Amino acid sequence: MNNNIKKGGISVQTEHIFPVIKKWLYSEKDIFLREIVSNASDAVTKLRRLASLGQYDNGHDESYRIDVILDKEAKTLTVSDNGIGMTADELDRYICRIALSGALEFIEKYEGENANNGIIGHFGLGFYSSFMVSDTVELITRSYTEETALRWVCTADGNYETSATERDCHGTSVIMHISDEEAAYLEKYKIEEILEKYCAFMPVDIYFQAVGETSEEEKETDQAVAPAEPKPINDTTPLWLKNPSDCTPEEYKEFYRKVFHDFREPLFWIHVNADYPLNFRGILYFPKLANEYESIEGQVKLYYNQVFVADNIKEVIPEYLLMLKGVLDCPELPLNVSRSYLQNNTYVSKVSAHIVKKVADKLNSLCNTAREEYEKVWGDIRTFVEYACMRDRKFYDRVKDSLLLELTDGSFTTVSDYLADAKETHENTVYYTSDMAAQAQYVSMFAAQGIKIAVFEKQLDVQFLSMVEGYNSDVKYVRIDADVASALKSGDAAVEDAELTALFQKVSGNEKLKVVFHALKDESVPLLLTVSEESRRMEEMMKMYAMAGMMGMNSFPQDETLTVNTSSALIQKLGTMEDAKREQTAAYLYQLTLLSQRKLTADELQKFLRDSYAIVYLI
Ligand code: ADP
Repeated sequence: MNNNIKKGGISVQTEHIFPVIKKWLYSEKDIFLREIVSNASDAVTKLRRLASLGQYDNGHDESYRIDVILDKEAKTLTVSDNGIGMTADELDRYICRIALSGALEFIEKYEGENANNGIIGHFGLGFYSSFMVSDTVELITRSYTEETALRWVCTADGNYETSATERDCHGTSVIMHISDEEAAYLEKYKIEEILEKYCAFMPVDIYFQAVGETSEEEKETDQAVAPAEPKPINDTTPLWLKNPSDCTPEEYKEFYRKVFHDFREPLFWIHVNADYPLNFRGILYFPKLANEYESIEGQVKLYYNQVFVADNIKEVIPEYLLMLKGVLDCPELPLNVSRSYLQNNTYVSKVSAHIVKKVADKLNSLCNTAREEYEKVWGDIRTFVEYACMRDRKFYDRVKDSLLLELTDGSFTTVSDYLADAKETHENTVYYTSDMAAQAQYVSMFAAQGIKIAVFEKQLDVQFLSMVEGYNSDVKYVRIDADVASALKSGDAAVEDAELTALFQKVSGNEKLKVVFHALKDESVPLLLTVSEESRRMEEMMKMYAMAGMMGMNSFPQDETLTVNTSSALIQKLGTMEDAKREQTAAYLYQLTLLSQRKLTADELQKFLRDSYAIVYLI
């Protein structure tokens, strides 16, 4: 055997490169294993392709595989494949020169940038990232075209030597001698964790073995029983690669459980299979949240040809859809890309737009063809959808006909169905309640007249409504205590009573209180206090700003109207009372009205209680 040793040094750049590799890649050191295993996977894929093209005869039914072997005692981590291997010339070109030029390019491009800004890990250093964790890296390779193998050893100072050696089979083994500072990478769980994260769907079977370590399970196994057949740690044909029409709901759920470790079933999912020119695949799930306070942060994993790249890349999936959970495989994106590359890439924005369209299509199709199912999940997805609509006008335009209104009786309707229904009684107006309990009196008055009321109880809802009105100025959203709907009134406005007007202005302590007279269909309610929608929203906004410390908490004059119900027996009785009693009764009625409209202030509540005790005393 020719044992000529070839020595070399990556001298000029060495002092420069190796410290930089170590320092800069610090934040995502784990990726070294992804780089080495994906090189192994590529090497196998290349050989498979040659075999399928008839350019390589594997002679027998060869099983391609990658072995990751951890030897804690020897302080080595080895990644071994039976792929294409390298000839001496290839070793020189790909490892000694090209890989290094990749490293140099990286340094030139990002020198000066902050190491923690996220580019790291999106621009891997390929093979050389192994030096982030190793003192010495050894590579034993035998090309599929050769009988002999080569051994290449490189130390962290950049000096390498190549010699001839032997290897049973074609392929490459990368033996990383883990440095003392990086001893964490000699822990079994650590390697398992990295493989699980980055390599779970790589296209070649990967076997992991920790030499000299016996697991608790194995210890417990009866000696007589043969050890279990080792199983690959990865799934080489992930569900997203399958044709959507061949996948069952059970498979989608199973995949979701496995990938996201979420025991709750997803609400529904979207299998994206975009052909040329976009050419990407993926499955996106709408997760079920345990409660509304749970963080809505989802997890969208980005893959490059089945190799994990990163989580939640907001350049690829719009930020407002990041509550989704799912996987996207974009072989058109280079494995190692920088954030700035993604931001300015038209392909990336097309992928993102395609995803938005798919999500909107799914909502529309559920609404139109699986209404019952859609209504069941609406409560869970509503906040997502409203938020997405607020962030992206285009998304709103796509889904606006599939936005549901939840009504006070628990049923659902679309806005257009609601408006069609309202044509006679309150055209182009959607009545809503923001608090069914506090506004119960209004709710029951509206319901008695058959007027449907939508429920908008969350803080986001009001902002959402303002936005919808902004987009479609014909339709108004009016809170049920903002306006006495004409459907609640019987006949025309009643004659004004100047005396009663003055009386209510007096007892309310507001000389400017607007008092109107009307016969209402519901005779049991003597007075109704309403605050116009605009004025109340303005006040809510002020409160929000005040809370954010942006302005003082100046109270804002409210545009209040007191409607006196002339068909109420109590109001009619007021007219017959002697003065003192009349004022006392009017004051008490006004307090009851306040109570049905909003929470009383401390002073108001005190007065109300005192007056109530006085009345009880008279019984
Ligand atoms: P990249 O994988 O991005 O090309 P690397 O630095 O990781 O960059 O690797 C450089 C080259 O070395 C690869 O393109 C490949 O030709 C060769 N190489 C690396 N690892 C292997 C391997 N396990 N088997 C065969 N060739 C390999």
